[in-house]
Amino acid sequence: MKYIDEYRDPGIAKALVAEIRQRTTRHWVLMEICGGQTHTLMRYGIDELLPEAVELVHGPGCPVCVTPLETIDHAIELASRPDVTLVSYGDMLRVPGSQSDLFRVRAAGGDVRIVYSPMEALKIARQNPQRQVVFFGIGFETTAPPNAMAVWQAQREGLRNFSMLTSHVLVPPAIRLLLGSSRNRVQGFIAPGHVCTVMGFRQYEELARDFHVPIVVGGFEPVDLLEAINMLVAQLEAGRTEVENQYARSVSRDGNVPAQQLMESVFEVCDRKWRGIGTIPQSGYRIREEFAAHDAEQVFGFSQHGVEEPAECVSAEVLQGLKKPPDCTVFGTRCTPENPMGAPMVSSEGACAAYYHYRRNAL
Ligand code: SF4
Repeated sequence: MKYIDEYRDPGIAKALVAEIRQRTTRHWVLMEICGGQTHTLMRYGIDELLPEAVELVHGPGCPVCVTPLETIDHAIELASRPDVTLVSYGDMLRVPGSQSDLFRVRAAGGDVRIVYSPMEALKIARQNPQRQVVFFGIGFETTAPPNAMAVWQAQREGLRNFSMLTSHVLVPPAIRLLLGSSRNRVQGFIAPGHVCTVMGFRQYEELARDFHVPIVVGGFEPVDLLEAINMLVAQLEAGRTEVENQYARSVSRDGNVPAQQLMESVFEVCDRKWRGIGTIPQSGYRIREEFAAHDAEQVFGFSQHGVEEPAECVSAEVLQGLKKPPDCTVFGTRCTPENPMGAPMVSSEGACAAYYHYRRNAL
């Protein structure tokens, strides 16, 4: 297959569904890690086409959803300062912090700007030397290379008024945590194709070996996901636990080595708190000491405070595949995209937003 239409071809999809139905002999629980994949599954009704015995649960791969409340509060604190321009991807503006959100700060006069790339934030810093420009750099391994590039470039140019508030997280340690939990139900994983485009899939081979679990690197179109599910079911039915690559048009085993080298030069691996889940050892990136002049945490310093999630929000369990959004008592009533109580309802990649938009088991 060469063109995007082929990955949305109803005939190919129908044939894959038939194949999955034909080979499934027992109940299997599969998790797609990435929120983008969750939205494709919901948008195209793939979960409803599968045999009942193939159950899909949704993983923690939504960067907005796992960014800790404290970090959002730090962004709000920065955006409220008269000397700071806070630059962010649009998704983050509506994510509620403990007291407010970035939209409200902007409405109250804060200088909050939306961009599509950290390089735009660099441009804003160059054009406004009298202001401190802070880029809110969150995400998985996918967004880490451009963020690393922005920090590297700022250092190279001596752009002292540019810094980054980072909350980067890494997928394999989160899968390891899920698989090590006594509550885990997941028997096979669809690994995120975009993350593996950067990182390759050697780390997933370790996970498959350590936990005897099949993992298929999957893409984002409906046929990609059906093919990945078919490959997982085939492995499970045959008792195999390997890593296979469905997304071979983008992913190689070693990934993008120059991008990895750039990331390693700017970031170092650290323990990282995931919203709702808690601290996962060695699951994030922080800016290396050599680039401290561009690390917003070091430039500004933040008060440390613990922040509780709203009691009703079960996003932690949703993000670990233990519950589905309609299991939440306030789903679609007190929690909607217009009035979100938790990040999975705000983000364009959040599982709660996916169920709400595509009206699954709702209301
Ligand atoms: S529906 Fe809202 S409150 Fe419930 S888990 Fe999802 S984000 Fe949290």
